[in-house]
Amino acid sequence: MNKEAYIRYLKSRKSSNRKNYFLESKKELEEIQARFKDRKPRLLLHACCAVCASFPLEFLHDFFELTVFFNNSNIWPKQEYDRRLQELYRYLSETDPSIPVITVPYDNESYMKPLEPMKDDPEGFGRCFYCYAVRMNQAYAWSEEHDFDYFTTVMSISRQKDSQKINEIGRSLSRLHPRTAYFYSDFKKGGGAIRQRELVEEHHLYRQDYCGCIYSRRDQDDKGI
Ligand code: SF4
Repeated sequence: MNKEAYIRYLKSRKSSNRKNYFLESKKELEEIQARFKDRKPRLLLHACCAVCASFPLEFLHDFFELTVFFNNSNIWPKQEYDRRLQELYRYLSETDPSIPVITVPYDNESYMKPLEPMKDDPEGFGRCFYCYAVRMNQAYAWSEEHDFDYFTTVMSISRQKDSQKINEIGRSLSRLHPRTAYFYSDFKKGGGAIRQRELVEEHHLYRQDYCGCIYSRRDQDDKGI
């Protein structure tokens, strides 16, 4: 790992230049409501698990026709992947069963190959930036191919994930997929994190104790030693 780059990144996180993407999302919603008078715009929502998807689904529900995209081959092992996907189906069946879920084949081996050289990066740095971007890009490309108006990801709700970085990735990807707009967000803000906790309790959602990949499992296990 490049330690200097990591320190530079940590310092940049404290900068007052950080944008408030929650306020940005509220502004976007007002504009969207003014623009789409005859129909709800279609939004593809990348989701990594039911816990992270719970509040974003509620927040976006009245403004968009939603479809969920589950492409998370980072998750290891396969039983864990299946469990998170099943929980997402269960959550939707209890809230809005009309929301479709698109899945892609699970392939952890191929997915993890490019991440292997970054296996010792601390969580929330280079390996993770790559991991966010790969999944977001695949979902974003799918949304553009299928004529969605908007794309976004639930990942900004996580306190372990830098919402500035996620939105920067979204902005870069929007240049690659210009027919679908990126919906900027910071779902943890504006009471989102509190509402998420309520929804998790209300629906008894399975709350995993690691992000997903084998390295995050390893790091979590190491903390217990
Ligand atoms: S810790 Fe999470 S975001 Fe980072 S590489 Fe692993 S699965 Fe991806």
